[in-house]
Amino acid sequence: MALLEVRDIRTRYGAIEALKGISLTVDAGEVVTLIGSNGAGKSTTLRSISGLTPASQGTITFAGEDITRVPAHEIVGRGIALSPEGRHCFPRMTVRENLELGAHQRHGAAVAEEFDRVYELFPVLKERDRQKAGTMSGGEQQMLAIGRALMARPKLLMLDEPSLGIAPILVQRIYQTIGEIHASGVAILLVEQNANYALDAASRGYVLETGRVVLANDSASLRNDPEVQNAYLGTLSIVRIRRVIDIGTIGAKALYLLFAWLISAAAASWLSERKGYGERVGLTLGLLLTVLGLLIMVFLPGRPGSKWKVQGWLPRRRRPV
Ligand code: ATP
Repeated sequence: MALLEVRDIRTRYGAIEALKGISLTVDAGEVVTLIGSNGAGKSTTLRSISGLTPASQGTITFAGEDITRVPAHEIVGRGIALSPEGRHCFPRMTVRENLELGAHQRHGAAVAEEFDRVYELFPVLKERDRQKAGTMSGGEQQMLAIGRALMARPKLLMLDEPSLGIAPILVQRIYQTIGEIHASGVAILLVEQNANYALDAASRGYVLETGRVVLANDSASLRNDPEVQNAYLGTLSIVRIRRVIDIGTIGAKALYLLFAWLISAAAASWLSERKGYGERVGLTLGLLLTVLGLLIMVFLPGRPGSKWKVQGWLPRRRRPV
């Protein structure tokens, strides 16, 4: 049985339906990632699980219990902690005070133990124990936000964009620590726009588009998926190159250009014979049709398997899984 099971949840912000039926699972001790572009619904998924923006439909089960309607403050006590996007540290409070807030449901020796654990994971927080959070760098505040979530000793840690706005060297440090947190047995649900980091850290992932899961697979398969590569990894994949130089595609594109030039030649001859315009008009028309054709080829969403193999270089939209 999965530690977390989200089944077909729908979540709204007033009239906007941000989640249109999301399902996912996270097993105990597993790292799972949600990737997707801006506005896909990644943060809303985490907010729904943590009770901050409750789902209006569907169910969320954690450790065998239905938590769909459990309020946010109780969710922490059940073992789910969220490190939110943008960190949200309290700037006028010290590092220690921010961490104490994360442990507000714990007492005595347990809190001291958690401080030791978090300071061991993030030595810089120990050094800056008395420093006001607002004076820390972005990367240090990110560590503080993760540390604060860990103070609740969660079974599931949800991280929303831990690499956002942080220098690559610090991001590596943070991901190293995420690896250490995972090694200590905590399950992690990781939201990232940087799919490279996310797929390295996670064993499985879900791709979200406009409030739906459009792809779910293990990280290696997602990494090899040409559309994930095009949209989220920024690599020029072999499949993509093959698609561009595909014989059928080239044939179709050449046919289009021939057709465009034939039309413009016919138009030029008609315009010069009947209307007395010079040849430049025909040439301009031909040029315009060629540019239009090239734009269509580049930007028309790809349609693999289409009879004529006329396809652009952009990935086609996926159907929800
Ligand atoms: P990003 O990577 O940019 O954070 P995301 O995948 O996390 O994007 P969400 O923040 O979950 O996306 O947003 C999903 C949708 O819900 C978007 O269309 C967004 O505009 C909308 N939305 C999010 N928060 C609110 C809000 N407080 N009020 C109204 N609409 C919201």
